[in-house]
Amino acid sequence: MMSPHALYAPHAPGPSEGRVDVAVVGAGPAGLALGAALARRGLRVAACGPAAPWAPTFGCWADELPAAFAAAPGVVRARYADPAFVGADGAPRDLGRAYLRLDTDALQAHLEAQALEAGCARRPAIVAQVEGGPGAWTLAGPGLGLTAALVVDATGAGLPGLRRGKGPPAAIQAAWGEVYRLPAGHPFGRMALMDWRPAAKAPDDEIGDPDADPSFLYALPLDAEHVFFEETSLARRPALPLPALEARLQRRLAGSGAVACGHVERCWIPMGGPRPALNQPLLAFGAAAGLVHPATGYQLSRSLGLADPLAAALSAALARDPAAAPAAGWGLLWPRGRQRAWALFDYGLEVLLGLDRAGLDQFFSLFFALPEAEWRSFLAGDPEPEALRVAMLRIFARADGPTRLALLGRGNGARWGPMLRAALG
Ligand SMILES: Cc1cc2nc3c(=O)[nH]c(=O)nc-3n(C[C@H](O)[C@H](O)[C@H](O)COP(=O)(O)OP(=O)(O)OC[C@H]3O[C@@H](n4cnc5c(N)ncnc54)[C@H](O)[C@@H]3O)c2cc1C
Repeated sequence: MMSPHALYAPHAPGPSEGRVDVAVVGAGPAGLALGAALARRGLRVAACGPAAPWAPTFGCWADELPAAFAAAPGVVRARYADPAFVGADGAPRDLGRAYLRLDTDALQAHLEAQALEAGCARRPAIVAQVEGGPGAWTLAGPGLGLTAALVVDATGAGLPGLRRGKGPPAAIQAAWGEVYRLPAGHPFGRMALMDWRPAAKAPDDEIGDPDADPSFLYALPLDAEHVFFEETSLARRPALPLPALEARLQRRLAGSGAVACGHVERCWIPMGGPRPALNQPLLAFGAAAGLVHPATGYQLSRSLGLADPLAAALSAALARDPAAAPAAGWGLLWPRGRQRAWALFDYGLEVLLGLDRAGLDQFFSLFFALPEAEWRSFLAGDPEPEALRVAMLRIFARADGPTRLALLGRGNGARWGPMLRAALG
């Protein structure tokens, strides 16, 4: 496998290279996928961003990863046919849906190669300044000077100039991930998307209070003896400190004979939070566009799948009127159905933030007891708002009194009004 870093070399721009139709700022998965898709449509594109290797161990549902990526050599590292949710009582529930672990280096190399083949110029530079407006932008940074008709912010966190709407700040899902070697016959042979059993019986200074600030175990078997574990907090404001999660993981594995192998991942995923304003001339894509699912943190398959349709919409709009391209892009990324679904997810996030351990135990067991199509569409991130509404009402109908009150938003600051507005459209 060619290293992602060997696929391009910085070079001084020629006279025409400083002028492009589209400048994509950020060369993560979303930026590179979009850069390649735009260049395939004959647009002059520059994808600007450092060449550093990507860090996360990416995973996704098998049926959501676009087929071209699933078929790309080496991108899918492992396929788990029977991931489970393990309830507080220790009983595994079969999720009935295959899950993939991706090879991050192979994905990066594949996306860099696609961008290169399509003719997308790669500028491994940080963009320090973006100025201008509809149809005429200037970008600058160390070793970089570009003008572009359209700028797309694919920086993950979003450029400082990206305007956002109102709403509660993002909550943070923190996770401590580590690969362990385990003795033969260990009990982690099946992938657990979520093992909801508490890490320890009693709170203490090292692990904090797992009842007040719950976390769960994500377990990906790598081979017969190695497992990648992630002790993952539920979304929280502020984030649960990583040392507490590390200690919880060690507490869980104590006595199992597990030995850490040195590969550590520190995760910090912002969930929810105000989405970008849809009426601004700076377009965004990927995590910067608010496309991370507020309840699950997943986003990768969505941006890989949206790159081509977005490129088609932008190329048509740029041909008509470059100043109209951002509106065409925002419209494609945020159709009314997705806006309504995300409003419901945001509401759900606020409710979960306010539930205690007993409420969460009940919520998760009711959630995974829903008909599969209903919880599946919730996790997918692109549910029909009607299906999502039915699923939420079903959980409400089956919950006990205190959990119903919490779902209605009493005592946790979440408001019933926004949910009703989002649900009823
Ligand atoms: C730890 C972690 C694990 C995750 N795991 C999953 C997962 O398993 N499955 C899933 O679906 N989603 C996952 N997500 C959510 C989401 O899919 C990822 O964050 C994904 O990497 C977002 O892709 P992106 O291209 O939008 O942004 P990023 O991957 O964040 O890429 C942005 C790029 O822009 C560059 N950049 C930033 N500022 C500038 C600038 N000024 N100039 C130039 N370049 C700049 C950065 O260096 C970076 O390379 C995870 C997120 C995190 C943080």
